[in-house]
Amino acid sequence: MAALTGLQIQKLLPKTNCKECGSNTCLAFAMKLAAKKAELSECPYASDEAKQVLGAASEPPVKEIALGADKTLKLGAETVLYRHEKTFAHQTALAINVNDTDAPDARAAALQAIRDFTLVRVGETLIVDLVSVTQMSQDAATFAAACKQAWETVKRPLVLRGADVAAITAAAVAVKGSGSVLVAPSAEASETLVTVAKENGHALAITAPDLNELVLLSAKIKLGGFNDLILRFQTHSLAEAFQTNSIARRAALKDNYKPLGYPSLHFVETTDLLSGTTEASVHFCKYGGICVLPQLDPAQLTPLMTLRMNVYTDPQKPIQVEPKIYPIGEPKADSPVFVTTNFSLTYFIVSGEIENSGISAWLVVPECEGMSVLTSWAAGKFSGAMIGKFVKESGLEKQVTTRQIVIPGYVAQISGELEEALPGWKVLVGPQEAADIESFVKARLKG
Ligand code: SF4
Repeated sequence: MAALTGLQIQKLLPKTNCKECGSNTCLAFAMKLAAKKAELSECPYASDEAKQVLGAASEPPVKEIALGADKTLKLGAETVLYRHEKTFAHQTALAINVNDTDAPDARAAALQAIRDFTLVRVGETLIVDLVSVTQMSQDAATFAAACKQAWETVKRPLVLRGADVAAITAAAVAVKGSGSVLVAPSAEASETLVTVAKENGHALAITAPDLNELVLLSAKIKLGGFNDLILRFQTHSLAEAFQTNSIARRAALKDNYKPLGYPSLHFVETTDLLSGTTEASVHFCKYGGICVLPQLDPAQLTPLMTLRMNVYTDPQKPIQVEPKIYPIGEPKADSPVFVTTNFSLTYFIVSGEIENSGISAWLVVPECEGMSVLTSWAAGKFSGAMIGKFVKESGLEKQVTTRQIVIPGYVAQISGELEEALPGWKVLVGPQEAADIESFVKARLKG
């Protein structure tokens, strides 16, 4: 269904202008609904007809798919082509593959490594989202056993890539309740596997030789009453994959074209690190739903997870740390005091550089709404008065005997104001770049 205009939506509302939704008129509320800036549930008097019509129209253009036993791994639900238009809803999920023909010990070790892999980046712990199991054997029971082992070891949703319907069915039953993805090997198998997916609580990744056939297939399956679909495009080059992903997402978002309004699934087949990382990067940047890597290699996962974090971080909600006084090392009452903002990246870089300089210190991190030093200063969130107030309210003044505070070099202009806000303190202007903290400490604090 094409998106409704504000006037079309208004016709479905009670038109009493009671204001209970927070808008002055039903028309104003309708305009907000059309712009997706309000939810119909905010109007307590919406009729069943309005709920039905607007419910369908307000479905996100890309279907949300929830995976896992607890349905917490979410894909899709996207509403914009570019992050800066609003935000992306869910990041590309990352899976690592194991094969059912891997030696039992090797597979057990690989599964444990997948389960235990973590990457801590700007205070967030990143993990592998799913395990993919590929059938290389000729035997359905072997494949099902490998899938069961993967589920029992990792307890995260699986991508079940069997060779045929019989093997996928056996695996789907073996891991019933895991909220996994069945990967249909062909268009014919896609239709057959709908019932298996439905009965065992899994999503279904469907495929067809080209986009036209895939569109017909997804529409037919949805019409039959199953909608937990993922699309697997059959492309033959990175350029074609990029183009196909973009065409599908653009059609879903711009034309509200439902047959392409699903997350996608892609397997990186090459074990060459550079080629594989490049291929996965394209899918992270351009609309990948799930990207499967052929092996677990921290050298590949680290840049990919970092890239993914950069692409999918909500630009309206910078990653931030809690505003407070952070001890760096084991500071004492006479240890130096530094100040920076609560933008995570800034905090971790500054605290790391203080640590590298070989001293212990107190790091004052006031509330700056997650902005960097210059941005928060420009926004009036990192002024001398505010830092002084924060130091007093935090109790640091009573905790330390130090009466020197080091501010970032970029905001040297606040030093006078800060000295006024903190009588008895001397303000030292630190370096502009965190990388120069070590030399600053040697020259100004240790000597
Ligand atoms: S609450 Fe409903 S009826 Fe009242 S003004 Fe808002 S849209 Fe109209």
